[in-house]
Amino acid sequence: MVRKARRYRIGWRHPYIVLLDDLEEVPLSFLYPKRVRFKCKRCASCCGDTEHRIRRILLLDIEAERVSEETSIGLDAFAEEIEGSEPYVYLMKKTEDGGCVFLRDKSCSIYKIRPLTCRFYPFQLQEIGSNRYLFSYTDECPGIGSGLCLKRSFFEGMFRDFTQSMRDCLRTRSNRS
Ligand code: SF4
Ligand code: SF4
Repeated sequence: MVRKARRYRIGWRHPYIVLLDDLEEVPLSFLYPKRVRFKCKRCASCCGDTEHRIRRILLLDIEAERVSEETSIGLDAFAEEIEGSEPYVYLMKKTEDGGCVFLRDKSCSIYKIRPLTCRFYPFQLQEIGSNRYLFSYTDECPGIGSGLCLKRSFFEGMFRDFTQSMRDCLRTRSNRS
């Protein structure tokens, strides 16, 4: 059961902390930036490399398998196995021009099943302690600074998406072992 989130002000510059209880009743909390504005400009620069950075598009095993099933494309054709980035175990392959293999004319051809890494961009979630997480963002994304200030509910939605994906992933791995 997910209980109602509580919010506290703490001693950083703009941070809020939110506590959520996950399905196993383990209290989880995250920090998020309070005054960040974001509106996606659909430039697709997060879907590949740019002049200034190499984009690593990480996938969970359950995500890669779902993409393979729904597109009928063999996993090896779009993902390579990696180590050292747990819980992510695959890296999306790119074309010669540095774009994701699923990018078509600045649009994602697997949009509904795109991995968490893509759904979260330009934000990322980092574990900063026992059951504590921090949302950060990169202003290399041209959408940062546009649109409305993001509310707590935006980060709560992403955090729930993250915890659900992790639970599904762990459950699937445990059923297989
Ligand atoms: S998230 Fe940012 S980089 Fe990606 S398409 Fe939107 S504006 Fe462009
Ligand atoms: S899966 Fe889709 S959203 Fe993710 S990098 Fe590839 S084209 Fe972009």
